[in-house]
Amino acid sequence: MSCSRVHGWWKWTATLVLVAATVVTTAGSGASDGTETYDVVIANGRVMDPESGLDAVRNLGIAGGKIRAITGKPLQGKKTMDAIGLTVAPGFIDLHQHGQEPRNYQFKARDGVTTSLELEAGTDDIDKWYAQREGKTLINFGVSIGHIPVRMKVMKDPGNFLPSGDAAHREATPDELAQIDKDIETGLHRGALAVGMGINYTAAATHGEIVDVFRLAAKSNAPVHVHLRHAGLKEPTTGLVGIEEVIAAAAATGAPLHVVHITSMGLQDTPRLIAMVRGAQESGLDVTTECYPYTAGSTMLESAIFDPGWQDRQGITYKDVQWVKTGERLTAETFEKYRKEGGTVVIFSIPEEAARTAVADPIVMIASDGMPITGAKVHPRGQGTFSRVLGHYVREDKALDLMTALRKMTLMPAQRLEKRAPAFKDKGRIRVGADADITVFDPKRIIDKATYEQPLQYSEGIQFVLVNGVPVVKDGQLVDGVFPGRAARAPILQ
Ligand SMILES: [Zn+2]
Repeated sequence: MSCSRVHGWWKWTATLVLVAATVVTTAGSGASDGTETYDVVIANGRVMDPESGLDAVRNLGIAGGKIRAITGKPLQGKKTMDAIGLTVAPGFIDLHQHGQEPRNYQFKARDGVTTSLELEAGTDDIDKWYAQREGKTLINFGVSIGHIPVRMKVMKDPGNFLPSGDAAHREATPDELAQIDKDIETGLHRGALAVGMGINYTAAATHGEIVDVFRLAAKSNAPVHVHLRHAGLKEPTTGLVGIEEVIAAAAATGAPLHVVHITSMGLQDTPRLIAMVRGAQESGLDVTTECYPYTAGSTMLESAIFDPGWQDRQGITYKDVQWVKTGERLTAETFEKYRKEGGTVVIFSIPEEAARTAVADPIVMIASDGMPITGAKVHPRGQGTFSRVLGHYVREDKALDLMTALRKMTLMPAQRLEKRAPAFKDKGRIRVGADADITVFDPKRIIDKATYEQPLQYSEGIQFVLVNGVPVVKDGQLVDGVFPGRAARAPILQ
C-alpha cells in the first residue's frame, strides 16, 4: 500500500479543509476520525525536536517510512513501541565515520545513529561506493569524494586508507593536478555529499592545489570537510595556522567549509580554533566544525602525521602512542618497527578541558571519526560517541543541556548538508513529513561502554532505533535481517 501518498495527500487536503471550514470526507482518509492504523506508533515518549523546540509527551504515527502524526491523542499502530519515560529524538547523523561495514553499522545503531557518513577521507569512486551498500545496510550511508584517495590513486601511492608514499610526500606534477581535479569534479557530478580533505596526510600538496579543490567544491555548493594541514601549538605549524589556510580558501572561493575533529587539531588551543569558526560565521562565512568526546585521537602510524618532528609538533612522545593490535604503548624501537609494518594507533594528546569545551559549545557538532574494525582493538569513539555525550557530558557532567546536545547530533549535521543534498531537509527533525529516522533512549541510563581496553562494546540505554520507519533496534537489542538503510546522496548530474 502506498501509505506515503495517501497520507501526504490527506494532510494537504486537511489543511485546505480547515481553511475553507468545509467538511469533506475522503475514502481511505481514516486519520480524520482517529481510526487510522499506522505502521508503527511510538507511544507516550518525551518528544524532543531541536528545530521546532517541541519538548513534550507525544505519540508519533509512522507510515511509509515517514512521520505522519505527532499528537497528544492516542494512535493505533500495527506495531506500538512503549516509550514511557524515554526520550524520542531524531536519529543521530554522524558526519564522520570511516568504518562503513555491517559490523560498524550495528555499533552505530546501538549508539543511536541512523545515518553514517564518511566525509573526511571519502572515496575515489562514488558510484562504486554507493553500489556496494545499496539495499544491504542497517542504517543510511553516504560519502564524499576524497582528495586523499584521489591523490593516492593518481600518484600511485602504496598506502592503505592513508598515504605513505608519493601522495604524502611529493608535489603533484601539472598532469597529476589536472587528473586530481578532474576526478574530484566527476565525484561531485556523481552525487558526492561533500569534498573530503586531509591536508596533514597529503603534506606535500601545495597551497595552490588545496585552493583549486576548494574552487571546484564551490562550483557544486559542496562543503569541504577538512582535516587541517597542521595541529598543535608549535609555530609555525600550529592548528591555528592550519585553520587560517582553509578559512582563507573558503572566503576566497565561496566554498562551504567544515573543520573536522577540532580538538585533535587545536589541542590546548582548541578554544582559539573554535573562536576562529565562530568569528568566520559572524562575518558571514559558511564555516562549521565538529568534535568527538574523547581525549585521544587515532590514525595510521605509517602516515605523514608521524614524519620526523612529530613529538614536537604534537607535544607528545612514544609512550603517548598506543599500538592498537596489542594495546602496548610505543618505545623508540617499537615505533620504528611498527611504522614499517603499518597499522592503527591511538594517540593520547587531547586535554580533557579541550574535549569538554568543544562538546559543550553550541556551534560544535558531534561526530565520531569512528575507525574501521579490523581486530579486537580500535578507538572506542566509533562505538560510543553519541551515548558518551548524552550520558557523560549531559547527565553526569552537566556540561550542556539535552536539547543542545541533540541539536548538535541531529539538526546541525542535517543543515550542514541540506544545501548540497536536499534529502537532508527531511532528516534530523521530528516533523510531520520528515523521514522516520528516530532514536528512543533512556536519559537516565544512556552511557557508552566502549573503552580503550574493551572497545567492542555496545552503548547502553538506546531502546528503539527506526531507520526509514523500520525498527533496527528494539527493546535495546539489534533486529536481525532488516536492511532499511538508504543512500544519502546529492543529486546526480549527467
Ligand atoms: Zn582526521
